[in-house]
Amino acid sequence: MSDMNKRYDVVVIGGGAAGLSGALALSRARRSVLVIDAGSPRNAPASHAHNYLGREGTPPLELLAIGRAEAADYGAETVRGNVVSAEKLSDGFRVVQEDGSAVQARRLLVTTGIVDELPPVEGLAERWGKEVLHCPYCHGWEVRDRPVGILALSPMAVHQALLWRQWSDDVVLFRHEQPDFSDEEYEQLAARGISVVEGEVAALEVSDDEVTGVRLAGGAVIPREAVVVQPRFTARSAVLESLGLVPAEMVMGDHVVGTYIAADPAGATDVPGVWVAGNVANLMEQVVGAAAAGLKAASMINMDLVTDDTQRAVEARRTPFSAEAERQVTERVLGDRRHGLQETR
Ligand SMILES: Cc1cc2nc3c(=O)[nH]c(=O)nc-3n(C[C@H](O)[C@H](O)[C@H](O)COP(=O)(O)OP(=O)(O)OC[C@H]3O[C@@H](n4cnc5c(N)ncnc54)[C@H](O)[C@@H]3O)c2cc1C
Repeated sequence: MSDMNKRYDVVVIGGGAAGLSGALALSRARRSVLVIDAGSPRNAPASHAHNYLGREGTPPLELLAIGRAEAADYGAETVRGNVVSAEKLSDGFRVVQEDGSAVQARRLLVTTGIVDELPPVEGLAERWGKEVLHCPYCHGWEVRDRPVGILALSPMAVHQALLWRQWSDDVVLFRHEQPDFSDEEYEQLAARGISVVEGEVAALEVSDDEVTGVRLAGGAVIPREAVVVQPRFTARSAVLESLGLVPAEMVMGDHVVGTYIAADPAGATDVPGVWVAGNVANLMEQVVGAAAAGLKAASMINMDLVTDDTQRAVEARRTPFSAEAERQVTERVLGDRRHGLQETR
């Protein structure tokens, strides 16, 4: 359980690629950092993480373990926990975990990611991240040249089918419950050798721990080794909502793809002192992009703290016998390394 009175420069909520990258940069900037992480990164069901330059094909949890160790080398602390809310104080934030413990922070970096909401097709959730896929850049190479089925769940289905055709010439599009496609779309599908299967999809056929086919409501089974879906991407935004931030809808055409928390390009939200990075702010971000966003937010948070530190120093200089001046003298005497300093201001 975290120390109730402990106050950090930055508490990072969520220890995926975005959060750990932010924690690494902030701890290297000599900020005191606590990462609170529930331990369920979005890509955990996948066996390997791809397109992360320098670590191509590393298992997702291993990649994060490496990141935690790197951040810890510079003094960042990481704890396993689930943050349920955060509250704005006159000077910073109070962050409350599920177990009732709380810590304080001058600034917050929230990197809680998203939930992939899957359609209620029998057998689909169990195979998610294995043979049930959404992102060709994450999994396309692994299923290249194999029989791929696209389960139409949105008006983006034809686009998905044409995209996955880049990895396999055996792509079947299941229209399921979607409205009929346009003549132009049928022409594009035919030109690329993609056939369309009519009828509601009832279940996935699984044998020896692998998807073998797609079963229609009428009973017919179409052999497939991978099935592509378009989940609804829902921001894990409860903590941000407790601070007054409201998730926005991401819309493509008329279709709601998911929800996210709006922020400026560096991740600053409408609540001063609160930054977001990774999937919670950008639904399309992949691991390397989430890590980059965490770094960008961290540098802006550090700059914001530098501004705050300078303002406090100027005030202390003007009133040499204030509590702030005393704090700064203590800090100078102890050395300017701030890790381990328990601040009470
Ligand atoms: C099946 C699958 C496979 C994928 N494969 C790849 C791939 O190969 N390559 C690639 O680049 N991308 C891949 N992705 C995308 C990748 O998962 C995301 O880009 C990446 O995880 C985003 O990182 P993040 O830090 O924003 O969020 P996440 O990695 O999801 O991390 C968020 C963390 O915050 C924690 N958390 C959430 N709420 C709280 C809370 N209230 N308190 C404390 N902690 C909390 C979570 O438990 C989690 O550990 C894949 C996605 C899926 C679904």
